[in-house]
Amino acid sequence: MTPEMQHLIDSLSENHTLTLAQYAALIDHRTPETAAELARRAVAVRQSIYGRDVYVRGLIEISNICKNDCLYCGIRRSSRTCRRYRLTPEEILDCAKEGYALGFRTFVLQGGEDGYYTDPLLCALIGDIKAACPGCAVTLSLGERSRESYQRLFDAGADRYLLRHETADPAHYAALHPQSMSFHNRMRCLYDLREIGYQVGCGFMVGSPGQLSAQLAQDLKFIETFRPDMCGIGPFVPHHDTPFGDKPAGTVELTCFLLSVIRLIHPPVLLPATTALGTIHPTGREWGILAGANVVMPNLSPVAVRGDYQLYDNKICTGEESAQCRGCLERRMESIGYRVVTHRGDVKRI
Ligand code: SAH
Repeated sequence: MTPEMQHLIDSLSENHTLTLAQYAALIDHRTPETAAELARRAVAVRQSIYGRDVYVRGLIEISNICKNDCLYCGIRRSSRTCRRYRLTPEEILDCAKEGYALGFRTFVLQGGEDGYYTDPLLCALIGDIKAACPGCAVTLSLGERSRESYQRLFDAGADRYLLRHETADPAHYAALHPQSMSFHNRMRCLYDLREIGYQVGCGFMVGSPGQLSAQLAQDLKFIETFRPDMCGIGPFVPHHDTPFGDKPAGTVELTCFLLSVIRLIHPPVLLPATTALGTIHPTGREWGILAGANVVMPNLSPVAVRGDYQLYDNKICTGEESAQCRGCLERRMESIGYRVVTHRGDVKRI
């Protein structure tokens, strides 16, 4: 390894910060050797905070109806091949109860921006889940809403909110989204969520069309300054019925490299080894954990609709029952020397 790279890695591990130019250099000049060194350090840091525990979240994909038209996303409004569905509050509650019986203590309700899910409906649902599943945490991932709405959902008992920033570069943001969406509003949402008191997750896709190391450096700088409780990163994977259908997917290699860097920037962050990572490589999620991730999110959606929540092509885990999904991930984690734990899995604030 060159002395320059060694210096960057040392400095990142010790100070948890680099300049934008240094982040870009770390990415541009990465080698298998620098990746291995970053992973070794990231795993050591994670181990000192979380041991060999991998936190598990039950993902319930509540609706694929969306008013937005994000250029990368398979459930975008203008997709005509997407078979639309939405789950009723009763169906969502049933998924949570099934998950609770399997040991899950965190549920993530994710979906498109579907106006059916009004504040009163969601507040009642959150109350019902909390009553039926004592001691559980409810995470929402339902896109951009007003501050008042976020406040109501928080007051109703929601604990966490996942809203990937998608990219911290406004020009790149504009290239990935229709004009009706704004980088400014996305950021406004994240800061509102933080101020209200949620545990907040941001995140981005790796290898999205047009993304260069300069953009990734901005994502890393944003994580350094925002200090999210969670950060979801996964490779971009093309969906055939989108404007980016013929673009190449992101790689396992760069995604894992960035997972290690993010762990070193912000040691206590909750980092999922995502389904997208498992989609582009049969053991992608295991590699993610070995690079510094510490969360997995098995699917609890009803099997009848799983195939329809197609954000990208070839998404895995669309056929299995919830119990199978959970068992599969448990075995995968055990195969690399980790164990899935089923408590709420709150972030450790150190
Ligand atoms: N509507 C919610 C949930 C979006 S789906 C919201 O706006 O937050 C969750 C994440 O899937 C998105 O934030 C995006 O980063 C990711 N995603 C969407 N399309 C993708 C694709 N083609 N490849 C990889 N990830 C994708």
